[in-house]
Amino acid sequence: MTMIRRILATTNEISLKGGNRRWFEKKLTANARRALADLPLQEISRPAWRLLAVFSEEVPLEEVVRRLSTVFGIGGIMPIYHIGWTLEDVREALPSFLENLSPGHFAVRCSRSDKSFTKTSLEVEREIGAFIVEKMGWKVQLKDPDLTVHLLIDSEGMSLWFQKIPGPGGLPSGSGGRASCLLSGGIDSPVAAYLCMKRGMKLDFIHFHSVPQTDPASLEKASDLVRLMARYQGRSRLALVPLLPIQEEIVARCPAEYRVLLYRRFMLRIAQKLAMRLHGKALITGESLGQVASQTIENLSAVEAVSRIPVLRPLIAMDKQQIIDIARRIGSFEISIRPHFDCCSFLLPEHPATKSKARQLDEAESELDIDALVLEALRATEIDTIDEAVPWDEIPLPKTPAGFK
Ligand code: ATP
Ligand code: MG
Repeated sequence: MTMIRRILATTNEISLKGGNRRWFEKKLTANARRALADLPLQEISRPAWRLLAVFSEEVPLEEVVRRLSTVFGIGGIMPIYHIGWTLEDVREALPSFLENLSPGHFAVRCSRSDKSFTKTSLEVEREIGAFIVEKMGWKVQLKDPDLTVHLLIDSEGMSLWFQKIPGPGGLPSGSGGRASCLLSGGIDSPVAAYLCMKRGMKLDFIHFHSVPQTDPASLEKASDLVRLMARYQGRSRLALVPLLPIQEEIVARCPAEYRVLLYRRFMLRIAQKLAMRLHGKALITGESLGQVASQTIENLSAVEAVSRIPVLRPLIAMDKQQIIDIARRIGSFEISIRPHFDCCSFLLPEHPATKSKARQLDEAESELDIDALVLEALRATEIDTIDEAVPWDEIPLPKTPAGFK
């Protein structure tokens, strides 16, 4: 197992920000600090566009990478090895780092923030490059080399790094406003949530259930998914809304072909009221065009007509396989595939409408006392705050380039 004391992270898009760059950086630093909190973290600093975490003792690289892979805004993660104070120390340490590698060609890059060092970066690059040619027999190629040996010279002395492990990208959690996500317990909605959180949004979660008509497994799944989301955004709220009384009314009084669409309309009506209460500015769903009958463009717009706040659908143009790939990468897949009975599978019609219009849905629900049903559901809603996130080992390790320390 590789151990490290220092790790550098690059900050992607934040470096393109203008006047409010500092604000984004501050959020990123606070989020990284939170993710690393249970490791022996000594300090986090921000040398030029980057983030440097120093630990008071050596820690498993894997654990640091896992934690930083949940910190949105980080573009790349570079483990750093402090190897001494002189170029002689570098020459002594290098072979043990390089011995198991066989790149076609390589380059040395030196970044020198300690300007009291007598040689220029270029001189150091040439000197160490010549040493590697002699020692390893490798060829130098400055443009697009197979391996780059990075040497940092700063107030801490000489450090080496070799690989950039891809970070999650995106923007720091908390920098992109607040919204409410309709979380079903299936595969799609946690992925939709993740993509919005990755752009900096903080989310509250809303789950509709049909207990006791359906078993309470969906409630447990929803809260497990929110505990996973809490790893990415910190403390999260989950609203549990009983939909059964509304569904019974719809089944009794409305045409069967529109059932699912009417369930969805009520979900949006209730969700927007909850979002307003929780200061959310939009609703997020896991809908994807054409995935099921209720997700044709006609049906999506006929349902959406009842919402006065934007309904964002980050998965709208994604294939199921793409969605599954993300679900596996973020750790939601295993929770989502646990069996449950979704409230929308309650009394499904044999032939659901695929091309409805808002007008037809208005007509279909004209027998219902909409306001009273919404109010009753809101009164019966329970809002929990979920402080405790899933254990870290439920966050999958990002893929690291093979062969490097
Ligand atoms: P998912 O989309 O999460 O995999 P699914 O495919 O079973 O679950 P769909 O029937 O495709 O769900 O529903 C589309 C979207 O509607 C979901 O992504 C979710 O945002 C919302 N939704 C459906 N059922 C519920 C529910 N019980 N509670 C909250 N939101 C729901
Ligand atoms: Mg779906």
